[in-house]
Amino acid sequence: MRTVYLDNNATTAIAPEVREAMEAYFTAEYFNPSSAYDRASPAAQAIKRAREVVARFLGGVERSEVLFTSCATESLNTALYGAVRANPARRHVVTTAVEHPAVDGVCKDLARSGLDVTFLPVDRAGNLDLRTFIQALRPDTLIVAVMHANNETGVIFPVEQLARIAKETDPAILVLTDATQTAGKLPLDLNGALRHVDLLAFSGHKLHAPKGVGALFVRRGTPIRPFMIGGHQEGGRRAGTENVPYIAGLARAVELAQEDHAAVEARIRRLRDQLERGLLERIPCLEVNGQGAPRLPNTLNISVHFIEGEGILYQLNAHGICASSGSACTSGSLEPSHVLRAMQVPFTAIHGSVRLSLGRYNTDEDADHVLEVFPRVVASLRRLSPYWDPAHDRPRPEAEAMMRGT
Ligand code: PLP
Repeated sequence: MRTVYLDNNATTAIAPEVREAMEAYFTAEYFNPSSAYDRASPAAQAIKRAREVVARFLGGVERSEVLFTSCATESLNTALYGAVRANPARRHVVTTAVEHPAVDGVCKDLARSGLDVTFLPVDRAGNLDLRTFIQALRPDTLIVAVMHANNETGVIFPVEQLARIAKETDPAILVLTDATQTAGKLPLDLNGALRHVDLLAFSGHKLHAPKGVGALFVRRGTPIRPFMIGGHQEGGRRAGTENVPYIAGLARAVELAQEDHAAVEARIRRLRDQLERGLLERIPCLEVNGQGAPRLPNTLNISVHFIEGEGILYQLNAHGICASSGSACTSGSLEPSHVLRAMQVPFTAIHGSVRLSLGRYNTDEDADHVLEVFPRVVASLRRLSPYWDPAHDRPRPEAEAMMRGT
């Protein structure tokens, strides 16, 4: 059975070009880049070059503003805890209700340790309200942590605008953005549109580098304390011997994302739109989460009324289709995702959420396969639902009222 991989927001396949760029540092060039002898110099050069590549990718920032880390989670933890430790006088954090746990969890931890955290709500489409954001800023606001695009829905936040507003309100407020889902997909111009952003994080494995490498941009002069303490690597701001092959791989992945960006994006968008239209046409009572908001071109998050997303995934899996749901199985009960809850997805649909996220290796055949299988899966699950009338392929009247919230 062939695999149709539609979970590129979870991770991506390592590109052959990336693998090739890493190879030498696993074998002949295994040396520690900090060693003084000549033989270690290719490893040190690889890191230097990678830093140049990533600095260019981020809009031509300074090389010293780029730190290599192990993943976006580390970058985000470093930025948030590092900012708090360096600025004890400021005790307020602004974030959103829909951040990835790598920010959300840290913010909740900061709240437990006595900081005041504002979690900004989103509307039904997943958008933030600018007025609410402005009202949230306070004289003691330390940092604003707002993701660039949401991993579950693909909804893009106006980080450029939010950062400008924060700086105009008070230049000392730090702005952190989680660009894990946008690196390689949207421009990250930290000298242009994103010039008011102080800290930006992303992970290699979302753009065809391996898992286990990430980056953190720290604008020069940003007061943060190091998180990893030890050797002098990364200018003393992130200790630990550098992961040379993975850093070389990250640089190659970043180049690759730029080389054929327009063509790859156009194809991904076409396939995503085809899937979206096709599923809406074929499946009654289906919602596209984030519809109406600016969205990443690769992400499609849908909620199918009256069935469980887990059931859909299970059956898609039996047909070789890899996707993910918006639910997290906690203590035996299926908790709907905090993102969809914040968007107030109706309760008849929130459990039936599925995320399809495309990538550079998806094909027309993949989309055709999904459009063939998905409606059959939904129909078979709905036959088991007490709310569905299979004879007429529509909800029973009482269920229709529940759907409308009446
Ligand atoms: N932020 C976002 C938006 C993500 O989607 C992810 C991963 O799914 C992360 C942070 C964490 O990335 P990593 O697991 O590579 O640390």
